[in-house]
Amino acid sequence: MRHSDLSKYCYTKLQSKASLLNVGWVDLDAPFLKGVIPAQAIARIESAIPLHLNAMRGVHGCPFCGDRDVYTDIDGKSILLGMSEVWVPSTVSETVYIAPSLLLHYIRAHQYMPPRDFVGALLALPCAPARWNTPGGSYAKLVKRYG
Ligand SMILES: [Zn+2]
Repeated sequence: MRHSDLSKYCYTKLQSKASLLNVGWVDLDAPFLKGVIPAQAIARIESAIPLHLNAMRGVHGCPFCGDRDVYTDIDGKSILLGMSEVWVPSTVSETVYIAPSLLLHYIRAHQYMPPRDFVGALLALPCAPARWNTPGGSYAKLVKRYG
Protein backbone atom coordinates (compact mmCIF):
# COMPACT_ATOMS: atom_id res chain seq x y z
CA MET A 1 0.00 0.00 0.00
CA ARG A 2 1.33 3.33 -0.99
CA HIS A 3 1.23 6.58 0.95
CA SER A 4 3.23 9.59 -0.20
CA ASP A 5 6.26 10.48 1.87
CA LEU A 6 5.52 13.15 4.47
CA SER A 7 1.74 12.84 4.01
CA LYS A 8 -0.38 12.54 7.15
CA TYR A 9 -0.23 9.03 8.62
CA CYS A 10 -3.57 7.21 8.39
CA TYR A 11 -2.76 3.48 8.20
CA THR A 12 -3.98 2.84 11.74
CA LYS A 13 -5.85 4.96 14.26
CA LEU A 14 -2.82 6.25 16.15
CA GLN A 15 -3.49 9.64 17.70
CA SER A 16 -0.93 12.05 19.03
CA LYS A 17 -0.31 15.73 19.60
CA ALA A 18 2.63 15.22 17.29
CA SER A 19 2.28 15.35 13.53
CA LEU A 20 2.42 11.75 12.38
CA LEU A 21 3.93 11.59 8.91
CA ASN A 22 4.33 8.72 6.48
CA VAL A 23 7.75 7.67 5.26
CA GLY A 24 8.60 4.67 3.11
CA TRP A 25 5.11 3.36 2.32
CA VAL A 26 6.16 2.66 -1.25
CA ASP A 27 4.65 0.33 -3.80
CA LEU A 28 4.93 -0.71 -7.41
CA ASP A 29 2.61 1.98 -8.78
CA ALA A 30 4.84 4.96 -8.17
CA PRO A 31 8.52 5.61 -8.70
CA PHE A 32 10.61 6.74 -5.74
CA LEU A 33 13.89 8.55 -5.37
CA LYS A 34 16.93 6.30 -5.17
CA GLY A 35 20.10 7.05 -3.31
CA VAL A 36 22.29 6.16 -0.38
CA ILE A 37 21.83 7.31 3.22
CA PRO A 38 24.55 7.44 5.90
CA ALA A 39 25.32 4.21 7.75
CA GLN A 40 24.50 5.95 11.02
CA ALA A 41 20.95 6.61 9.80
CA ILE A 42 20.57 2.95 8.86
CA ALA A 43 21.87 1.96 12.30
CA ARG A 44 19.12 4.05 13.93
CA ILE A 45 16.48 2.28 11.84
CA GLU A 46 18.00 -1.08 12.84
CA SER A 47 17.82 -0.14 16.50
CA ALA A 48 14.11 0.68 16.22
CA ILE A 49 13.00 -2.45 14.35
CA PRO A 50 13.27 -4.89 17.32
CA LEU A 51 10.75 -2.69 19.20
CA HIS A 52 8.05 -4.09 16.81
CA LEU A 53 5.92 -0.97 17.22
CA ASN A 54 2.27 -1.22 16.19
CA ALA A 55 2.76 -4.89 15.34
CA MET A 56 0.15 -6.49 13.07
CA ARG A 57 -0.92 -10.09 12.69
CA GLY A 58 -0.42 -10.11 8.95
CA VAL A 59 2.88 -9.87 7.17
CA HIS A 60 3.53 -7.72 4.13
CA GLY A 61 6.10 -8.98 1.67
CA CYS A 62 8.22 -6.86 -0.59
CA PRO A 63 6.31 -5.72 -3.70
CA PHE A 64 9.53 -5.15 -5.64
CA CYS A 65 11.29 -8.51 -5.32
CA GLY A 66 8.14 -10.51 -4.56
CA ASP A 67 9.53 -12.09 -1.39
CA ARG A 68 6.68 -12.84 0.99
CA ASP A 69 8.88 -13.15 4.05
CA VAL A 70 11.70 -10.66 4.27
CA TYR A 71 14.13 -11.18 7.13
CA THR A 72 17.04 -9.09 8.29
CA ASP A 73 19.85 -9.79 10.71
CA ILE A 74 20.16 -7.32 13.56
CA ASP A 75 22.72 -7.99 16.28
CA GLY A 76 22.88 -11.64 15.32
CA LYS A 77 19.12 -12.16 15.39
CA SER A 78 17.01 -12.87 12.35
CA ILE A 79 14.00 -10.55 12.39
CA LEU A 80 10.94 -10.71 10.13
CA LEU A 81 10.13 -7.38 8.48
CA GLY A 82 6.72 -6.31 7.20
CA MET A 83 4.66 -6.83 10.35
CA SER A 84 5.38 -3.73 12.39
CA GLU A 85 6.40 -0.10 12.10
CA VAL A 86 9.41 2.06 12.79
CA TRP A 87 8.64 5.33 14.57
CA VAL A 88 11.24 8.07 14.37
CA PRO A 89 10.84 11.28 16.38
CA SER A 90 12.08 14.68 15.33
CA THR A 91 14.26 16.23 18.00
CA VAL A 92 13.31 19.75 16.87
CA SER A 93 9.52 19.60 16.41
CA GLU A 94 6.52 17.57 17.53
CA THR A 95 6.79 15.27 14.56
CA VAL A 96 6.95 11.49 14.45
CA TYR A 97 7.78 9.79 11.18
CA ILE A 98 6.09 6.41 10.76
CA ALA A 99 7.47 3.84 8.35
CA PRO A 100 6.85 0.16 7.71
CA SER A 101 9.65 -2.01 9.06
CA LEU A 102 10.25 -3.02 5.42
CA LEU A 103 11.82 0.44 5.13
CA LEU A 104 15.14 -1.14 6.02
CA HIS A 105 14.81 -3.62 3.15
CA TYR A 106 13.64 -0.92 0.73
CA ILE A 107 16.75 1.12 1.56
CA ARG A 108 19.22 -1.77 1.39
CA ALA A 109 17.84 -3.84 -1.46
CA HIS A 110 16.08 -1.23 -3.58
CA GLN A 111 18.04 1.96 -2.79
CA TYR A 112 14.90 3.77 -1.60
CA MET A 113 15.90 7.29 -0.58
CA PRO A 114 13.80 8.59 2.31
CA PRO A 115 13.04 12.32 2.62
CA ARG A 116 15.90 14.53 3.77
CA ASP A 117 14.01 15.61 6.92
CA PHE A 118 13.61 11.98 7.96
CA VAL A 119 17.30 11.21 7.45
CA GLY A 120 18.15 14.35 9.40
CA ALA A 121 15.89 13.23 12.24
CA LEU A 122 17.61 9.82 12.33
CA LEU A 123 21.07 11.40 12.46
CA ALA A 124 20.05 13.68 15.34
CA LEU A 125 18.91 10.81 17.57
CA PRO A 126 20.95 9.17 20.32
CA CYS A 127 21.83 5.48 19.84
CA ALA A 128 19.31 4.00 22.26
CA PRO A 129 15.63 4.25 21.22
CA ALA A 130 14.74 4.37 24.93
CA ARG A 131 16.19 7.91 24.88
CA TRP A 132 14.34 9.01 21.75
CA ASN A 133 11.71 11.74 22.08
CA THR A 134 10.24 14.85 20.56
CA PRO A 135 10.84 18.19 22.35
CA GLY A 136 7.37 18.07 23.96
CA GLY A 137 7.41 14.37 24.81
CA SER A 138 4.84 13.18 22.26
CA TYR A 139 7.02 10.33 21.03
CA ALA A 140 7.38 8.70 24.45
CA LYS A 141 3.62 9.05 25.02
CA LEU A 142 2.90 7.47 21.65
CA VAL A 143 5.19 4.51 22.37
CA LYS A 144 3.66 4.08 25.83
CA ARG A 145 0.09 4.19 24.52
CA TYR A 146 0.35 2.27 21.26
CA GLY A 147 3.77 0.70 21.12
ZN1 LIG B 1 12.55 -6.36 -2.05
